[in-house]
Amino acid sequence: MEVDCENCAGCCVDWRALADVPEHERRGPQEPLDDTYNLVPLTREDVRAFVDAGLGDAMTPRLWRAREGPSVEVDGHQVAAVAGKPAFFVGLRKVPKPVAPFDTDPRWLPTCAFLDPETLQCRIHDDPEYPAECGAYPGHNLALDVETECERVEEHVGGDRLLDDTPPGETAALLFGPEAVGQKVFVYPEPDDLADGLVDRLVAGEPTDVDRARFVAVAAASAPGTTAVEPTKREQAYEATLDADSWVGRAVADWATRADSDDPDPALGERVEAARGAPETPGWDALRSE
Ligand code: SF4
Ligand code: SF4
Repeated sequence: MEVDCENCAGCCVDWRALADVPEHERRGPQEPLDDTYNLVPLTREDVRAFVDAGLGDAMTPRLWRAREGPSVEVDGHQVAAVAGKPAFFVGLRKVPKPVAPFDTDPRWLPTCAFLDPETLQCRIHDDPEYPAECGAYPGHNLALDVETECERVEEHVGGDRLLDDTPPGETAALLFGPEAVGQKVFVYPEPDDLADGLVDRLVAGEPTDVDRARFVAVAAASAPGTTAVEPTKREQAYEATLDADSWVGRAVADWATRADSDDPDPALGERVEAARGAPETPGWDALRSE
């Protein structure tokens, strides 16, 4: 497997506005409640690493409308369920950032909270909380013989992105099916507690801090292969996530305001993120000279 990621970030940015891209994330039996494109599903270990790093406020849940298969009613909506309880992913928040993927003119596009808008590199690439899914991408797609984001970029924008499509030998972290429960697919234990408008907020892309913390805490306190949730870990993760005041959380509101008023200048990342403590990225010249 070999990819050319320079000036791409196709798997970190919602670039649907730049090309006539089909809604491929909507394929399959379950439809996300939210409209986030390419949400990175975090493992339980990823979730814990973000909470421990004080980055609990960078995560957000995903639930699905149940078209078929097991479901449970939440606030009058049928959502996908495991063992009669709402199933969910935890992913990273996307915010409008001024980015110029594929050498296009800069524009405001929904972008992963951790992408440096100027270099289009990941700010946590070398950190312990770098998600397993990001580190493996697009290896799982190649192993399963499904289209990669790199190929979608090639098809809709041009260029060569997927330079070697040989699947990696190591695919142990695939986590699909029953073994994903408690490790990547989590289960919210008390569906009745979610009957407070949560579904409408997720559909609107406006979960509250409390909404996000509730799901992050359950994921952090889950156990592989079961729907069990450890109460003390859950409480600790909930408090840590609600208390989190990271550069990500502080930048989110600023980006949202600027997207309504400012020209899309990628250099704003310095003021909005780096000045609040975001890790710097090396740039592509530095990587080429390594
Ligand atoms: S879509 Fe593929 S080539 Fe583009 S940044 Fe992601 S992994 Fe790299
Ligand atoms: S964590 Fe980094 S690699 Fe993963 S989607 Fe976000 S910016 Fe991209």
